[in-house]
Formats: sequence, structure tokens, C-alpha cells
Amino acid sequence: MDMEQAKIPQATAKRLPLYYRFLNNLHSQGKMRVSSKELSDAVKVDSATIRRDFSYFGALGKKGYGYNVEYLLSFFRKTLDQDETTRVALIGVGNLGTAFLNYNFTKNNNTKIEMAFDASEERIGSEVGGVRVHHIDDLEEKISDLSVAILTVPASAAQGIADRLVKAGVSGILNFTPARISVPTQVRVHHIDLAIELQALVYFLKHYPLNEDGS
Ligand code: ATP
Repeated sequence: MDMEQAKIPQATAKRLPLYYRFLNNLHSQGKMRVSSKELSDAVKVDSATIRRDFSYFGALGKKGYGYNVEYLLSFFRKTLDQDETTRVALIGVGNLGTAFLNYNFTKNNNTKIEMAFDASEERIGSEVGGVRVHHIDDLEEKISDLSVAILTVPASAAQGIADRLVKAGVSGILNFTPARISVPTQVRVHHIDLAIELQALVYFLKHYPLNEDGS
């Protein structure tokens, strides 16, 4: 995201890709406008929050009209740097890493895994989902101008690899390992523990069943 948008609260910024994806679908269906109620139903964010989010970037919906899809899309494209592809590295081509390489965020046209690294001789030199797998020893040499990395190595290897990534100039790490990694303050780590998320869902289903009205 560019610096001009630094004033947008982080919680709002996190929802932008969600809005963007939905609006893109609407646009490809030829829809010109959308109400906050429609958006709210689709992205599961309450309409008051949507209105507040949108007010940060000057999109004021009109009563009985809603929001102009084209305007919102062009704003999101600029804000999310959709015109510029972010090249990403993936470390650890195991089950999860392989799935990401095959998936490769093809529906998200602004991010692309361009190279992968692994320690296993079997995988090195191969291509997975069209992405070349390099030896982890060559990380610093190959990764030079990439600033984002996905971490799908075993937890025990996570901190060591993260240290090397940071030294090599990476400023964003999407950490899929259960390890809580430490990085300098200027580096951003987003942590996604799929096992914990699934457990939490099961726990909530059991202990906090939802009513039909969602309350
Ligand atoms: P997953 O956890 O993704 O299901 P897995 O069970 O197949 O994968 P893991 O042991 O978690 O395997 O390892 C994930 C991948 O990380 C493997 O391909 C492994 O070779 C690789 N790996 C392990 N240690 C390192 C390391 N220090 N540097 C780079 N890659 C590593």
C-alpha cells in the first residue's frame, strides 16, 4: 500500500482485499453500483463498519444509489498496488508449501510466488507449480530483490530462516509455522496457524453455537 494511505486504520486496511475481491466480481458481471447492505451480506462485515471504512477514502454512498463500483475499484487498485505485482518467495516445499506453489494466488493478480527454497536434495532443482525450487543455502544470493516471504518450514527451522530472510532484506513474512518468531520492529510478521484456527472453530461451535439471526 502506498504512503498516502498511511492514515487508514489497520483494521480497515486489512479488509480492503476482501472488498476488492468482491467488487472485482461485481465489475466483471457488469454491475455499476452496490449498496452497503449487498456488500455487507457478501463479505460478512456489518454495514456500519463498511460505511465507516469507505468514508476513510472519500467514498460516500448515496441513499438509494449505493456506491459506484468503478470508483471504488480504481481506488482499491491504486491503494493495494494492484497494478504492480509483488514477487514472493516460499521457504519449505513440504505438503503445505507444495499446495501454495500449485495454487499460487492466481485469483489475486498482484502477488506471485516466484521462487522456492528447501533443504531436501530431492526437491532442489525441481519445479513445483512452475516455480523453481532452490537450495536453502542459496537463499541470500537468489532472494536479493524480493521483500515478502512465506514460511512453511518445520517450526524448529522457522527462527533461523526468519533471521536469514531479514538479513537478506525481506520486510514481510507470512508465517505458517506454529513457531512465534522474533524479528526487528521494522519487519512485519503475519502469523497463520491453520491447526489453531480449526481447533478454535470447533471449540466455538461446541461452546458458542450461533442462533439463526447470527447472535
Ligand atoms: P508440511 O508441514 O508443509 O505439511 P511436511 O510434513 O511435508 O510439510 P515438514 O517436515 O513440515 O514437512 O517440512 C516442510 C518442508 O520444509 C520440507 O520440504 C522440508 O524439506 C523443508 N525444510 C526443513 N528444514 C528446512 C530448512 N532448514 N530450510 C529449508 N527447508 C527446510
